[in-house]
Formats: sequence, C-alpha cells, structure tokens
Amino acid sequence: MVHVDVADGHFAPNISMGPDTVRSIRAITRLPLDTHLMISEPEKFIDPFLKAGSDIVTIHGEVVSSDQFSKMSKLIRSKDKRAGLALKPLTPLPAWFEEQVRNIDLLLVLSVNPGFPGQKFMPEVLPKVQAAARVSRSSPFDIEVDGGVDHDNAQRIVQAGATILVAGASIFRKEDVKSALRSLRDIANRGVQEVHTKC
Ligand code: ZN
Repeated sequence: MVHVDVADGHFAPNISMGPDTVRSIRAITRLPLDTHLMISEPEKFIDPFLKAGSDIVTIHGEVVSSDQFSKMSKLIRSKDKRAGLALKPLTPLPAWFEEQVRNIDLLLVLSVNPGFPGQKFMPEVLPKVQAAARVSRSSPFDIEVDGGVDHDNAQRIVQAGATILVAGASIFRKEDVKSALRSLRDIANRGVQEVHTKC
C-alpha cells in the first residue's frame, strides 16, 4: 500500500500534502492508499480524503475523545473504508482503547516525533506494540509502525507484533529503491516466521 503522511503545520510542525495529492495518486494506482492525518482537526478532513480516494484514514488519539473517535470511525466505515487510530511515540494506549477496539481497524504506532522524514526509530515504542498485539489476539486489528523503520530494526519490530511497516527514507533514499524494498520485506518476513515459530 501507499502511505500518505498529511501534516498541517499545527499538530505536526511541517506542512505536507492534502486531498488533491491523494486524488492524483489515486489516479495512477489501484494500491490501497493509507492516509495518516497528523492534523489537529481531523473531523473537517475525513470526507475530503474519502472522496479523494483514501482507503484507510488514520486519526491521532491525542486530538480526539473516545466519542469523537467512534463517530469518525463510523463515518469512515460507512463508506466501506478502514479507520485507524494513531499515537505519537510517547502517548500511551488511551484509557478508552479497549472500549473502542471494535471501531479500530488499524493502530498506528508512530516511532518518531511527527513532522520530518529521515528521523531515527525510537525503540521505546516497542512495549506499546507488544501491549497492542496482546489486545489484538481477541479483537483483531492491524498494528502499523511508522517512522525510522529500516533494514536493521524491521525484524525486531515485526517480532514485537507489527503487521504493517511504513518505510520512507530507508527505501527512497537508496539508489536502488526496488531492491531496498524487496530486502526490507524479506527481513520483515523472517520476523513473522520467528513469531509463528514461537507461538
Ligand atoms: Zn505516517
């Protein structure tokens, strides 16, 4: 899938792209578009992103209450799309996480501070990934780790319970993008095999 980082210069100290960019990407690919809204007022933009062609819309837990998340998730799912909840590196799972878990298709664990590409992975997030993985055993959702994922840490992140890895700099800053992607995927798959062996 294609991960689209949307930053508003407010929740995240950078301005990136909006619905028009998603519409342009939608026009050239059938891959799922995974839209990560690092913005302060997601309720204003869910509809424009859905109309632009987003398949997954992920909202930050720091800017919504349990009720607000539930309403937004229902809106996204009413269009047959998937709803995600994102958390900054130091934000714990919210107190309402388990009560909302049925409304969550994907938990995004941000592993760098939001805003700029090319930052270093923060291993402090791994216990949160493990805690989420335990909850997901009884009520399944994807666990996506986003930020600083590279060839050295991918296996460890998958072993902690991640099911989706977002890779930016570790792929696109390599000369051979295709082989960087392929080798990252191979490393991640080795992590999956080990998880299965342990179970
Ligand atoms: Zn992201």
